[in-house]
Amino acid sequence: MRPFFMAFIFAGVIALAPQANAAPGAVRCGKLLDVRSGKLLTDQVIVFDAAGVVTSVGPAGSPLAAGGVTIVDLSSGTCIPGLIDVHTHITADPSDGGYRGLGVSVPEETVRGVKNARATLRAGFTTIRNVGATDYTDVAVRDGVNAGEIEGPRMLVSGPPLGITGGHCDDNLLPYEFHRRAEGVADGPWPARAKVRETVKYGADVIKVCASGGVLSKGDLPGTPQYTLEELQAIAEEAHKLGRKVAAHAHGTQSIKDAIRAGIDSVEHSSLIDDEGIALAKQHGTYLVFDIYNDDFILQEGAKVGMLPESIEKEKKVGRLQRENFRKAWQAGAKIAFGTDAGVYPHGDNAKQFAKMVEWGMKPVDAIQAATVKAADLMGWADKVGTLEPGHFADVIAVSGDPTSDVKVLESVQFVMKGGVVVKNQLAGK
Ligand SMILES: [Zn+2]
Repeated sequence: MRPFFMAFIFAGVIALAPQANAAPGAVRCGKLLDVRSGKLLTDQVIVFDAAGVVTSVGPAGSPLAAGGVTIVDLSSGTCIPGLIDVHTHITADPSDGGYRGLGVSVPEETVRGVKNARATLRAGFTTIRNVGATDYTDVAVRDGVNAGEIEGPRMLVSGPPLGITGGHCDDNLLPYEFHRRAEGVADGPWPARAKVRETVKYGADVIKVCASGGVLSKGDLPGTPQYTLEELQAIAEEAHKLGRKVAAHAHGTQSIKDAIRAGIDSVEHSSLIDDEGIALAKQHGTYLVFDIYNDDFILQEGAKVGMLPESIEKEKKVGRLQRENFRKAWQAGAKIAFGTDAGVYPHGDNAKQFAKMVEWGMKPVDAIQAATVKAADLMGWADKVGTLEPGHFADVIAVSGDPTSDVKVLESVQFVMKGGVVVKNQLAGK
């Protein structure tokens, strides 16, 4: 029985493994967006080795274009580097809103993560930073992807987010007698440091902390501070000592400034940031992540998927201000990375945020840079992903049409390659 079982598992791994077909190769792009310069180059060839790493990029027909390798012909398409979403909840689904989430087991959440990782990759997002999951479900999904057992993007994951008792990242749905407390709750600088250590012990690549109240939690307000400056400083120092960056959920004006002053690496949501907060972010080089698409989803679909009435009311107060402050921060020159809060809305729709970013002040190429070079920089992966150049992974996506004039074409990505392996190709034969 056992050898048969082992053989079965092994065959399954081979069939699913994204790396199974890795071989040297090349992609010929009708157009290629150089995301550093924002220039659209014509008729380029990207060559990669058996490890799925780019060895050269240059005009087709030049000596750079290696002979003897299989070339994927995308001469009808526009290539860009694989997209990056720095704020996802890969194991959460919008159908888990409010009290419905209590019925989702930890194993079930992991299964959802497997489904969502595939949808995310196929939508053109070859890298994500996951900032918040129940227990360590996102660690399991990351490890499954890295082992080639399941299909999904490259992932940095946080595991459970840190938060105060009764705060946005606690679980406040049940009455006292259930003694329910989310696994990331820690009050006070030293317990918070211990929680950082515990989270790293169980596999976190990045620390997520809830600095202020939130929208989709019960009994708190987005503008209200939760962690103190002292607690945030302890978390940032402990995480950095252990080689981890920190992402702070902060809608509220004060919490945004506290997070930046504490040395946290990115402020998530940033909804109620003021001029002083923007100036501080610039001064400290802190990335701001504005999830400005999901407001539409929460207001249109939230009630249907079980979100609490108080959450819908909170979103009504915060959503528009967040978009206005996104424009302000961008015009002031703050660093902005592309993060969407996918999981609040369906995974795979991540690219819908590009049009919102353009509607609220960015040029299409700015929005694409936020989801490539800048996102890679925030993640600490600028030497691996975010641009197509020698030494970086051959993570290539392609669309028909020009995303620098119509960013909505990114909502229907037609070709996805991760590390030199084709995941999806709807451009072939055109
Ligand atoms: Zn989130």
